[in-house]
Amino acid sequence: MSLRDLQPVSDQYLVQNYGQRLPLAFVRGEGCYLWDSEGRRYLDFLAGIAVCTLGHAHPVLTQAICEQAGALLHSSNYFHIGPQAHAAKLLVELSGLDRVMFGNSGAEANEALIKAARRWAAERWGEGQRATIVCTEGSFHGRTLATLTATGNPRVKAGFAPLMPGFRHVPYNDLAAAAEALDETTCGILLEPIQGESGIHPANLDYLQGLRRLCDERGLLLLLDEVQTGIGRTGTFFAYEHYGLVPDGVSLAKGLAGGVPIGAVVLCQALADALPAGTHGTTFGGNHLATRAALTTLEVIRDERLVDQAREVGDYLREQLLALAADAPLVAGVRGRGLMLAVALTAERANDLRDACAAHGLIVNAVRADALRLLPPLILTRDQVDEGVAALRAALADVSA
Ligand code: PLP
Repeated sequence: MSLRDLQPVSDQYLVQNYGQRLPLAFVRGEGCYLWDSEGRRYLDFLAGIAVCTLGHAHPVLTQAICEQAGALLHSSNYFHIGPQAHAAKLLVELSGLDRVMFGNSGAEANEALIKAARRWAAERWGEGQRATIVCTEGSFHGRTLATLTATGNPRVKAGFAPLMPGFRHVPYNDLAAAAEALDETTCGILLEPIQGESGIHPANLDYLQGLRRLCDERGLLLLLDEVQTGIGRTGTFFAYEHYGLVPDGVSLAKGLAGGVPIGAVVLCQALADALPAGTHGTTFGGNHLATRAALTTLEVIRDERLVDQAREVGDYLREQLLALAADAPLVAGVRGRGLMLAVALTAERANDLRDACAAHGLIVNAVRADALRLLPPLILTRDQVDEGVAALRAALADVSA
């Protein structure tokens, strides 16, 4: 179906919660490339918002999904599920943590983290005591009622009162503020190692290490939201590895199954123990299809050494962007790590620049009015970096002209 035929149907029948969509409809992908309904090819520096870890139509993932669809999609958590158990084993081995529970999205993973933390606190200090979780300004944790309350962006919360009790916000990268907030009413802190939706803002080394120390000293929980940063994107499998620490619980989603909807929490034993039989669950969570896709994605990441590739190619992309910045007055700098980067702009022209990039065959995201976000697949090559940066250079010339 052409875009001309599709757009009116989309506009008439869908809830318009995503606002005006870009005038593009992708119909096919291969590797780091997408094709639209008019047959045009694009280099994909978005990967479905950090989802398509292995790019598009990766042959190993495609075959595994097809095989699984032909064998069994779903049986329920009343029964043992082979790929669920094996994907959990791999995540435990990679994380330094003990147990995994699967869900269906990032918000749901954070809900599980919040519920585990509350029950853990209830067992120690009594129901409802010390239930408050400290969160950070600028954060994004999802759109369910608890996770939008945890989110540190007032726009996400507007109109949804009454919000959930039990969340308090402090400035990001401010250890003293966190130290003051982590008191006898709180059970821990939840944050992203690199804030994604606020425009790619990494936690400082001293800050995250200081939070780990504070939580250890006070017997509180360090909970990390790695929905966007996890699965190799920052050049280590979990972003917390850059900081030489292990949290008490971490949430994952987006890139975990290469494009099949999934979420997961990886928990220390004490947090896992706080969710005994009957305390939490979800019908679809960890089903055969989703966890076969996750298991295969994790195996391909391991076998093709994609975490190393994300680090090396990410470093190269950063260098090339910095070189571009030298003669592009609109570019203020580069933020982020690995293949999770923002191009900061000197003016609020991100939407124009995103559209100009698309016109030059490059898909990027305008994460805020003054920053582009780049989240390419982990299979990105140096040649594709050169191709993408050339398109960005051409787009910058158009926008600056
Ligand atoms: N946490 C972070 C850090 C995110 O970036 C997102 C989505 O952008 C979420 C949670 C919510 O994930 P989902 O949209 O899958 O519910």
